[in-house]
Amino acid sequence: MARISARLADNAPGDYFVDDSCIDCETCRIVAPRVFERSDRLGLSVVSRQPRTPEDGLRARMALVSCPVSSIGSASKVDVHDAVAALPDPIEGDVFYCGYAAESSFGAASYLVRRGDGNVLVDSPRAARPLMDRIAALGGVSTMFLSHRDDVADHAQYARRFGCTRVMHRADVGPGTRDVEQVLEGDEPMRLAPDLLAVPLPGHTRGSQALLYRDRFLFTGDHLWAAEGGEGLDASSSVCWYSWTEQIRSMKKLLAFDFEWVLPGHGPRFHATAPRMRVALEKLIARMAAPR
Ligand code: SF4
Repeated sequence: MARISARLADNAPGDYFVDDSCIDCETCRIVAPRVFERSDRLGLSVVSRQPRTPEDGLRARMALVSCPVSSIGSASKVDVHDAVAALPDPIEGDVFYCGYAAESSFGAASYLVRRGDGNVLVDSPRAARPLMDRIAALGGVSTMFLSHRDDVADHAQYARRFGCTRVMHRADVGPGTRDVEQVLEGDEPMRLAPDLLAVPLPGHTRGSQALLYRDRFLFTGDHLWAAEGGEGLDASSSVCWYSWTEQIRSMKKLLAFDFEWVLPGHGPRFHATAPRMRVALEKLIARMAAPR
C-alpha cells in the first residue's frame, strides 16, 4: 500500500499521489496518461494533474490497481471496485490490456485476446484473484504466449488455474519455465492457429518472439514499441541483452508482415495503417543500422 508519508514532492496537490517506492515502470503513464507523468527530476512517475473528470478518475484507479509495487495511493482511500471491473481494458475488438502488472516482469504489459477457438494470454500479468476471476468470466485462457524470458511473471499460477498451453521459444526457456507445454525451435515463423503466427525475433533476448494475430495485432514483447510522443516506432540497444545486430535482422523480418497495432511489453502502443506501419518500421531500421 502506498504511504502518504512517502508521497513524492513533485505530485500535484490533491487526493491521488505516488510514493517513493515507484520503480518507473511506466504502467500508470500508459493506463492514465492525463493523470500521471514522469518527473525527469526524480526519474519516477508522479501525479501531474489530479483527475477532473469521471473518466480520468477511473483511469487513475485502474493505474492504482495495476501498479506492480503499490506505489499509487489516494489520501481518501478511494474505492477501486469500478477499476477492478474495468480490467481487462478493451483496446480494439477482442483484444484487451490486462493491467495488474507484476514486479517480477518490471511492470510489463500483458494482453488478453478473446477468440472463439480459445483465448490467448500474451505474457503474464500478476496472479491477482480479481483479474483471474475477470479472465475466467471472459472465457479463461487456452494459450499463454510468452514473448521472452523477462515477462513470464506468474505464468505457472495462470497455467494451474486455466490449464492453458504455454508457448515459449527454446532459447529463452530457463529453470522457472522448463515445464512449459509447447517449446518452439528455430528462427522461422510458426503458425499456432489460422489466426495466430509466432514470429521468432532474436535480439533483445535470444528467444524473443512476437505473436501476430489476424494480420492486425503484433504483440512484440521488448523487441519494438512506439517512439516517445507517439510518432513512429522505437527500439533500444540499451535494453538489448543478446545482440543488436540480430535485433536489426529480426526487425527487417517484420517487413514481410502486415499489421496495424504494435502492442509491446514495455513502452507505448503504436497504431497505424499497414502502409504507415511499414514506413515507420523502415525508418526505425535505418536508424538502428546507422553508425553510432
Ligand atoms: S505504475 Fe507504479 S511503479 Fe510503475 S511508474 Fe507508475 S507509480 Fe511507478
